[in-house]
Amino acid sequence: MILKAKRGAVARLGKRMLAAGLTTGTGGNLSWCDRRRGLVAVSPSAVAYDRLTAGNVAVVDLEGRRVEGALAPSSELPFHLALYRHRPDVAAVVHTHSVYATTLACLHWEIPAVHYLVGFAGPKVPLAPYATYGTEALARGVVDAIGSANAVLLANHGMIAVGADLDKAFAVAEEIELVARIYYQAKAVGTPRILPDDEMRRVVERFKSYGKAPRP
Ligand code: 13P
Ligand code: ZN
Repeated sequence: MILKAKRGAVARLGKRMLAAGLTTGTGGNLSWCDRRRGLVAVSPSAVAYDRLTAGNVAVVDLEGRRVEGALAPSSELPFHLALYRHRPDVAAVVHTHSVYATTLACLHWEIPAVHYLVGFAGPKVPLAPYATYGTEALARGVVDAIGSANAVLLANHGMIAVGADLDKAFAVAEEIELVARIYYQAKAVGTPRILPDDEMRRVVERFKSYGKAPRP
């Protein structure tokens, strides 16, 4: 089986995405790209996460041609591939319908630096304009909006997180959902104080070495 480990990770983290409350039903999708081989392991479309196995995770090339796997790849393949084309630093994409990030996306808000953890994504989380799910128009809006950030809200839809591997992209999705919830709750009772740009520059710089110190 080609890309066995990456397909296994897509199946495992898909189940975790559901268990962590980051999506419901068959919503959301995830992929992990093998840059060396130019292949992508991507969750199949409209399949319940508890049915995901390494074997039914689809494999496509960077043009979207099916290489292995009996099931059709995610309908959002266009934005997964567009992100791999536009961001050489990205090798994994996690798309969620997590409730708080999606709430803000339905208001067409970005997430400002309300908490330093927004630095998992960048100085803020930008918003991509609404376009029908699964379209090239949505993919174009996503790559335009995300810039060099590691997450983007999708208007009236959800959130995308990216990273150098699937665990990193998943961690970004979890942390940004937490920040979205904090922003929502802070807005509900008062006026959140936003961290200044120079502090966010420091945080984003510091995150580059976070977890990379040699362990005793
Ligand atoms: P897929 O099941 O085709 O991945 O679609 C789910 C989704 O979230 C569409 O935006
Ligand atoms: Zn979606």
